[in-house]
Amino acid sequence: MTSEVTVRVPGKINLQLSVGPLQRDGYHELATVFQSVSLFDEITVSEIDKGIEITTDSKSNIPLDKENLAYKAAEIMKKKFDIETGLAIKIKKEIPIAGGMAGGSADAGGTIVAIDSLFSLGLKRDEMERIGSELGADIPFTIAGGTAIGTGRGDQIAPVLSRGSYNWVLALSSSGLSTPSVYKECDRLREGLDISKPFVSDSLLQALSHGDAKALGKALTNDLQPAACSLKPALRLILDVGLDYGALGGIVSGSGPTVAFLAEHEDHALDLVVALTSSGVVGNVIRVAGPVPGARVITGA
Ligand code: ATP
Repeated sequence: MTSEVTVRVPGKINLQLSVGPLQRDGYHELATVFQSVSLFDEITVSEIDKGIEITTDSKSNIPLDKENLAYKAAEIMKKKFDIETGLAIKIKKEIPIAGGMAGGSADAGGTIVAIDSLFSLGLKRDEMERIGSELGADIPFTIAGGTAIGTGRGDQIAPVLSRGSYNWVLALSSSGLSTPSVYKECDRLREGLDISKPFVSDSLLQALSHGDAKALGKALTNDLQPAACSLKPALRLILDVGLDYGALGGIVSGSGPTVAFLAEHEDHALDLVVALTSSGVVGNVIRVAGPVPGARVITGA
């Protein structure tokens, strides 16, 4: 057995996020299309005598106790597989916190994959995804990666045929948005409206199967975007700037506030980065590619 394992796990954007009506249990049925992008957290897990200890290089505040999703993932793995030793988990964060890119879920997914490798449990990917789904709806996709449809609460995933690689430009916000508050705002804005059952858009799936970036740009949709923009009006300005500078499409990712712009090719993405940065409406702009694979062991395998 190796003494420590490091897993690299990507963040996601939602190419589509359709939100059904508020259900009695407080949840919404979702129809979503996820894509993993090349912005990664790294999770390093090693054995210690007892307990679960989390450390991070993140300058922002993330919980280091039971509230951290990686802690919860370690707890569930210890219990399921009778792991008696303690675990140290180091989280190197690149994925923005509360950014709508499933950063916490990625850390949980990465922890499950790392523990599987550290203790040679030999779990299949779908078994690890199932364990992840017990903790959070976005976790199975962070393990699977690529491009996938998510239904139910977003946790029932199925891979999507996607040709080629897409150039994305992400406008990151310095402060996050809480997912529950965005859903609450969405319900408030929809009060009195008749909301139908969500379904995945055919035009989006066709664009992906043809590798047609222009068609994909037009097909991006997010039912949470009005709510995210209502809570953070600066997002409207950011969307306008990116689209004015020729992005093929622009969308708030998940519950936001990260905004993803689709560029035609690499040079176009570089132009968009310059335009958005010099506009002064957004602090941190980065270029990423998608799809990329899900959580993978990079050292200690
Ligand atoms: P999603 O896209 O799945 O809705 P998000 O990317 O918007 O999520 P996260 O980065 O997962 O949001 O963080 C949401 C909250 O979860 C944070 O405010 C933080 O308190 C808590 N949290 C728990 N574990 C972590 C973690 N490992 N990394 C970041 N945040 C975490």
